[in-house]
Amino acid sequence: MRSWVEVSLGRIRENYRAVRGVLEGRAEVMAVVKADAYRHGAIEISRVLESEGVRWLAVSNTSEGIALRQAGIAARILVMADFLSEDRAALETFSLTPVVHSLEDLAAVRVPYHLKIDSGMGRLGTRAEPAEILRAVLAAPAPLEGLMTHFASSANYESRQTEEQIARFAAVLAAFRARGVAPAYVHLSSTIPVAYRRTEAWGNLVRPGHAIYGYVSPGRGPAPPPALEVRPALSWKAAVLSVKDIEAGALVGYGGIYRAPRAMRIAVLAAGYADGIPHRLSNRGKVIARGKLVPIIGAVSMDLTTIDATDTDLRAGDAVTLLGSEGSVSIDAQQIARWAGTISYSVLCGIHARVTRVYVD
Ligand SMILES: *Cc1c(COP(=O)(O)O)cnc(C)c1O
Repeated sequence: MRSWVEVSLGRIRENYRAVRGVLEGRAEVMAVVKADAYRHGAIEISRVLESEGVRWLAVSNTSEGIALRQAGIAARILVMADFLSEDRAALETFSLTPVVHSLEDLAAVRVPYHLKIDSGMGRLGTRAEPAEILRAVLAAPAPLEGLMTHFASSANYESRQTEEQIARFAAVLAAFRARGVAPAYVHLSSTIPVAYRRTEAWGNLVRPGHAIYGYVSPGRGPAPPPALEVRPALSWKAAVLSVKDIEAGALVGYGGIYRAPRAMRIAVLAAGYADGIPHRLSNRGKVIARGKLVPIIGAVSMDLTTIDATDTDLRAGDAVTLLGSEGSVSIDAQQIARWAGTISYSVLCGIHARVTRVYVD
């Protein structure tokens, strides 16, 4: 194989249990498996989580939900970021639960739905006043099952944005309760407010994605220590296509952006940016070769990446670790994101579909 990821289903189970441990029964878990479960494979991850007893899954769009239903997934599925008219009939056919983002859309909903409040993120959700939201919900043909919002800055303890969002959401919920409207599910939190135990934002359902895959982003400012311990479930390898010696002064790769400072040995890996290795790792990322951290040299190209193999006995046909660990050396998506100037989510979601996926315990 040129390049492959190994996904540990055991780790997924452990991470899910760790999330439940932090929740101590105060809230139920809706596991987020959008974007093919952050490239871990939505069907397999959903099956494992179902076997762990998960009752809710969340996807981004209707086709992701349909794919899970066609694979036999029976859990409730919330479609979080899609309410396009062409997809509405499929919601009913495939027993998917939509998130409705605007009061105008309520008239078109025929199935129980969750309503998204834009409490201050400025993305999806209604920004109407509580009384107006309540009126629209009472007039809608389908029953409201959940009330939800999403935070913009929950990891940033220097910002008041989360407190402000919680307050705005609470005002809507209070208006509902004052009129005897009690949505069965109230949910606000993704991984971060769970991991940092912002319990006032848990409602009775939480929506972790990142944590299930083994990540909790670092907090900014006076963040409490995270209460959640999870470990990455995915590792990523690439085969060595060729190893060779180059002389001092030789240029490596497109643009000649690397010049060998001395005679050295290089290895060419069978993976590039078309596989998801960020181009920004050119001349700055690292991989693990034979248990050692070695630098990526030159430009990452579409299908190939070159590394410094001087201090290794790497041979063609060997595998190196792009993400994962060998012995005590490890590279996770957070580290790659720092090198590439991006976020760990984008590193995981960037792993291309052509990278073979292998499941291990
Ligand atoms: C992606 C997403 C989540 C999960 O976020 P994580 O940080 O991965 O836990 C939760 N809720 C919504 C609305 C999302 O879009």
